[in-house]
This record gives sequence, structure tokens and C-alpha cells, in this order.
Amino acid sequence: MKTVIHWFRRDLRILDNVALSEAAKRAEQVIPVFVFEDAFCNGPDVGAARLTFLLQSVESLRKNLVELGHQLVIRRGKAEAILPALCLELEAQAVFANKRYEPYAQRRDERVTSALLNVDVGFELFKDAVVWEESEILTQAGKPYTVFTPYAKAWKARSISLPRQKFPIHHAQSPIRNFKSDALPKSSDELGIPLAQNIPPGGERVALDLLAKFMAGPVYEYGTSRNYPALDGGSSLSPHLRAGTIGIRTVFAALGKARSRATATQAASCDIFLNELIWREFYLQVLHNFPHVTKGAFWQEYDALKWSDNQAHFAAWCEGRTGYPIVDAAMRCLNATGTMHNRLRMIVAMFLTKDLMIHWQWGERYFMNQLVDGDLAANNGGWQWSAGTGTDAAPYFRIFNPISQGEKFDADGKFVKRWISELKDFPAYLIHQPWENPLLLLRSKYVPRIVTHEEQRPKCLAMFQAVKKS
Ligand SMILES: Cc1cc2nc3c(=O)[nH]c(=O)nc-3n(C[C@H](O)[C@H](O)[C@H](O)COP(=O)(O)OP(=O)(O)OC[C@H]3O[C@@H](n4cnc5c(N)ncnc54)[C@H](O)[C@@H]3O)c2cc1C
Repeated sequence: MKTVIHWFRRDLRILDNVALSEAAKRAEQVIPVFVFEDAFCNGPDVGAARLTFLLQSVESLRKNLVELGHQLVIRRGKAEAILPALCLELEAQAVFANKRYEPYAQRRDERVTSALLNVDVGFELFKDAVVWEESEILTQAGKPYTVFTPYAKAWKARSISLPRQKFPIHHAQSPIRNFKSDALPKSSDELGIPLAQNIPPGGERVALDLLAKFMAGPVYEYGTSRNYPALDGGSSLSPHLRAGTIGIRTVFAALGKARSRATATQAASCDIFLNELIWREFYLQVLHNFPHVTKGAFWQEYDALKWSDNQAHFAAWCEGRTGYPIVDAAMRCLNATGTMHNRLRMIVAMFLTKDLMIHWQWGERYFMNQLVDGDLAANNGGWQWSAGTGTDAAPYFRIFNPISQGEKFDADGKFVKRWISELKDFPAYLIHQPWENPLLLLRSKYVPRIVTHEEQRPKCLAMFQAVKKS
């Protein structure tokens, strides 16, 4: 082929990029394109943190491409209108892109396919974001997995492909020709979506640095440290895996290398990290095979649950004013940074759905608005798991106690004190139940608790049992 457009979407990187490598292999000229669509700024799930991260990552991709002698052509508008017009303008015979798995993205790809067909241009999609996709891993009965452990076992029984080649730098393949390119907004503020959070930076180099640092040491402690919010033992790669500023095969290759020089205990830690990466693929295959999860419960009987619509409780949860320190610290951290530790996500999600008995979809939406790594598949999976309505769900009667969770995973209250200045003078033994000293609580100006866990638990069980009985 003479000219191929590589359409960047959630693969904002040069290294380990399947569609980009294929384009470089099969075409004389490769023209890198990014379409900034209005949908990025509209709709209920849009969040300033994710939008800013995206803008930073595209800008970093643009600079990296310039360093290699290529121009990233940026156009604003709808992909199904922009791409056919660009193909005619640049005389391209095909558009290559990496696959997306969200139903809305797949509908857009269908529209793009027919728009390109109209101008006689091919559209090729490649598997890139995951190692195993869609229906590649099925049970012996040929059905999709709905439980993680056997899925992970089947996943591990297969071999993993190695990182793709770097995008080959043939100047002739994409000489900078000053194609018309639209300016990218500098920040989400410019788009009328103000960013109030101090989020981590985007871009491929940042992602590769994070990976290198994590694999140089923290991965060996991950099995333990990942549970304690104050230790921040995770890789922090989730926004990068979501935006595609790092390739999944690169992560697996680095993990394999780290594991090859590990002691037995360290290797066990590496395997726990591997499991987390498989969770990501598990939820993506759930989304593909059971797209109804985007609209309601995986177990559809639970759509009949009678959730509370207490707006005041929801506002208190969102703003970190429930009176439960571990919940409030986690929510204040989310609101300030666009990030939240995995253990805390489970705690606050359980609290919203089981203690406040508010619909998991309210929490799912709030997370999507705030999180820098907000991802339909993982977020929906995490919320449904916590609410007890999803695949592989914690059974509805397993309800986290926010006090004992705090005492177990933030025993000295270090994390709580980082985010709740009102509690800075509380001794560790009181930090997760400050109401036990009413005078100190009053003086601290920290909020009293809005519900009592012991009273809410039976109410929540009754809510689930009512549906079970019917
Ligand atoms: C209610 C709830 C909502 C969540 N929403 C999201 C979300 O919107 N986006 C998101 O990426 N993750 C989500 N998670 C999963 C998990 O909390 C984050 O992936 C993790 O906290 C990110 O930190 P890290 O990169 O340091 O992860 P690490 O612990 O270093 O894990 C490595 C990678 O594995 C993947 N991963 C880890 N745990 C999970 C999981 N349970 N499900 C799917 N993938 C996982 C992520 O890509 C992560 O970057 C959610 C979990 C819950 C309980």
C-alpha cells in the first residue's frame, strides 16, 4: 500500500503499538492522525482529570513523533466525517487503528467503516490493548467466563506475545509536509471543563519511567504493600494503561524480566501483580460478552433492588463528609488528585451501596467524572463486584465494616490524617471511630457520622433478601 493513516485513539504511544507497527510494515507512507471529537467534552461521563490526562498524552505523543521526523495531524470533529475527508486529501488507501471494546466506541467504528467504504478506503482494526480479547478465552462449554479464578487459570495457560517493534523511523515513510493540523486545547479549562485536581502527568515517557521504577523494586513488595493506602504500593499505571501511553506487552515483558531475577517470595509478589493485570482483561471480556452490564446489573434480578435516593447522603459521600474517616479520606483524596487506592475504592463503593444503600450506578458515574483512570470495563466491574450485583461478586451478605477496614489497612491513621486535617490530633486507637470521644470530636470540627454501620447492615441485607425471595 502506498499511504496508510494510523488513527491514534487509546494507544497514545509509539512503542509496542500493534496497528502502528503494521502500518509501518505494510505501507510506503504512514500518516499519524488524532481526531479530537466533541464527544470527549460532552456526555455524563466526561471528567476534567481524564480529559487533561488525554490532552497531555496527545501533546507528548506529538512531540515524540516530531523528534522522530513525523507530524501528528490533529483534526477536530467527528471521526466519521474527518477520516474519509483526510483520506481523500492525503490520498490514503487505508486507515489502521487499534481495537476499542466499549459499546459506544464500537458503534463509532461501525459508522467509520461505512463512511470509509463510501470513499473506497479500507479500515483495519488490530488487537493491541489486551493480550486475550473478546471470546478468545472460553470455558470448555464454549461460554464466556463469569468467575475470575478459572478465567485467570485459562489465561495463564497460554503464552504471551512479545513487545512489538518500535515504529520504524523511515523519514520517507512520513516526511513532515506541513499538513493542516488543528491546535489542541492546552487544558480542559479551555473547553469549559475546569480541572480542580492535581493529577499525575500523562505521556509515554512518564509511563515507561513508572514501569521501570516499579519493576526495579516495589513489585517485589507488592503482595503486601498494595493493601495499605499510606504505602502507595501500586504501580500507578492505570491511567496509562487506559490511555494507551504504555503497551500491555511491554508491561508483561518487564514483569517477566523482574520475576526471572526474583527470590521465591518476590516471585509470589510478581504473580499477584500479574493477577491484577488479568483482572483488567477479565472485565474487558465481560464488557464484550455481557454488554448489558453498562445499563444494569450483571445478575439482572438485582435490577429490582429498591435503592435509596437520599441526595444528602450521596452529597456527603461525594464530598467526604460521612463521618467515617477511611471513607472520607479516600473521597477527599479522589476529589483532590483524581486517583484512589484499590482497597479504598472497594471500601467507599461498599459504603455507598451497603451502608447508604445508594445505587452503584450513582457511584460508578461519580468515579467516571473524577478518576484520571476512569475506565468503563474496570469501573463497572469494580462497582458491581462491590455492590454484589456483578460477575464474581462478593456475595451480597459480605459487607465491609468501614471501622475494621480502617483499623486493618490504616492502623496508625497515617492515610486518614493526610486527608482529614480535623483529625490530626486524634490518637490512633480512636482514629477510625472518632465518635467514641464526643468531646474531642466536637472540638475537632470533624463531622458526626451520617449513619450507623451496625443499624444499616441488617437493612441492607433485608433489601437484598426482598429481591431474593421474589
Ligand atoms: C469500585 C472500583 C472502581 C474501579 N474503577 C477503575 C477504573 O475506572 N479504572 C481502572 O483502571 N481501574 C479501576 N479499578 C481497579 C483498581 O482499583 C485500579 O486499577 C487500581 O487502583 C489502579 O492503581 P494501580 O495502577 O497502582 O494498580 P496496580 O495495583 O499497580 O495494578 C496494575 C494494573 O492492573 C489493573 N488492575 C488492577 N486491579 C484491577 C481491577 N480490580 N480491575 C481491573 N483492572 C485492575 C490496572 O490497569 C492497574 O493499573 C476499580 C476498582 C474498584 C473496586
